[in-house]
Amino acid sequence: MTNNYLKLQFYSLPQNQAFARDAVAAFCVQSNPSLSTLSDIKTAVSEAVTNCTVHAYGPDVGIITIECDICGDVLHISVTDAGRGIDDVERAVKPFYTTLPGDERSGMGFTIMQTFMDDFSVSSKKGEGTVVSMTKQLAAEVENV
Ligand code: ATP
Ligand code: MG
Repeated sequence: MTNNYLKLQFYSLPQNQAFARDAVAAFCVQSNPSLSTLSDIKTAVSEAVTNCTVHAYGPDVGIITIECDICGDVLHISVTDAGRGIDDVERAVKPFYTTLPGDERSGMGFTIMQTFMDDFSVSSKKGEGTVVSMTKQLAAEVENV
């Protein structure tokens, strides 16, 4: 399978969440992933991008960068912001931890990313931004008759 690379940069506007999710999915389709793999990737990207909009930039608008690398049949994806950063990453990735409890947030975004993707890591610096890196095996689709 040919290796491939995609870089997307866009404003942290809520209307770009669906765009980002669908653009990444369209990029991955070339590797013939199953519908369930594609749906896992879309969900994880949505959660990561929503976090940039809601938490990293809050009421401001900033730049979100997504990079996708398809290497063989593995997708590496990073979602980067230059927002406020995370104080304590270990605590932030725990299920049900949220800093916006009154805002219909359940604190499950990172847990969802972790569950739906094969590998997941967060690197963040207070005041500088956050990078979420994820990996997913894009296994070739097997026809079920
Ligand atoms: P949910 O995703 O269920 O709506 P949530 O966004 O609060 O709720 P997580 O996505 O798990 O839950 O994130 C946990 C916490 O980590 C957030 O409440 C926020 O404090 C912090 N966080 C997550 N992503 C970022 C980011 N990109 N920049 C700054 N803080 C972040
Ligand atoms: Mg979230």
